[in-house]
Amino acid sequence: MSDQYTMQDPTTQYPTADEQWQQQQAGPGLEKEMGPKPDAGEQSYRGSGRLAGRRAVVTGADSGIGRATAIAFAREGADVVLSYLPEEEADAQEVVALVEAAGRRAVTVPGDVTDEAYCRQLVSAAVGELGGLDILANIAGKQQNVGSIDELTTEQFDETYKTNVYALFWLCKAALEHMQPGSTIINTTSIQAYSPAPILLDYASSKYAINGFTKSLAAQVAGRGIRVNAVAPGPVWTPLQVAGGQPEEALKDFGAETPLGRPGQPAEMAPAYVFLASQESSYVTGETLAATGGMPTP
Ligand code: NAD
Ligand code: MG
Repeated sequence: MSDQYTMQDPTTQYPTADEQWQQQQAGPGLEKEMGPKPDAGEQSYRGSGRLAGRRAVVTGADSGIGRATAIAFAREGADVVLSYLPEEEADAQEVVALVEAAGRRAVTVPGDVTDEAYCRQLVSAAVGELGGLDILANIAGKQQNVGSIDELTTEQFDETYKTNVYALFWLCKAALEHMQPGSTIINTTSIQAYSPAPILLDYASSKYAINGFTKSLAAQVAGRGIRVNAVAPGPVWTPLQVAGGQPEEALKDFGAETPLGRPGQPAEMAPAYVFLASQESSYVTGETLAATGGMPTP
């Protein structure tokens, strides 16, 4: 059985886009309804105690990159508060089972991160149910493609920024009230923060904001012994992309533009979150770790 340590050719490790893409779903998209399902490391991620005893909040934990991260955190020894939208309960329950199978606690707190009170509630759940908060992984995000600024509504612009940027502010603010030295925050930016697509005006610009927010907050809280970093995924096969993240006709070429020639899988993102969450990255803060299939970042 291969795991994330098995040496293999990364160009053929996972399929290219064309033979696997499927019809679009209505947002936020359920992983359960994807065919084929993304690989979130369910069968392959092998932990080695890198986060033993830590208490984590993971947003967007039901599917895609958040699911892979929640599974990896649990297998590395962390208990996890899982955040997701109520309509994603079916996906979330699969993650609960996987976290519990790893011998760790899963606390489910469904809700909407565009609500500040809910963001505070997530942090309270970690403190109340797990006894504290050591890791905040902000992975929830909203991406809907719109061809022209003429068609981009104020409502969508607002929702994208509330989900991708304001929630980050609210969650970090609430978390920092409880975090002790050694704690870590990991945000999720994107290749879109470096190579913005014309059809992702609101999303791409929100991801630029996340890079700036990460660097500023990192400098602000470094003296308290708290590190803040980000992961910048390239094109990754998740519900976000098939539920309006990309136009339907673009899905068959998704990821083909990367030097590795294929989309990434959530399982290939999780080790970056684990590294930034663990003490191994003790001298790394204010950094964005890119996992883009070779697409250049500054
Ligand atoms: P995904 O659809 O599996 O995950 C996104 C999650 O965000 C959803 O599962 C949902 O639980 C959560 N979410 C969205 N709106 C929310 C709201 N209002 N309240 C609470 N939760 C909400 O897709 P993914 O691709 O794994 O996305 C995870 C992160 O990765 C996002 O921040 C996304 O921008 C980023 N990202 C993805 C890609 C990619 O190609 N898939 C590339 C770069 C960055
Ligand atoms: Mg989801």
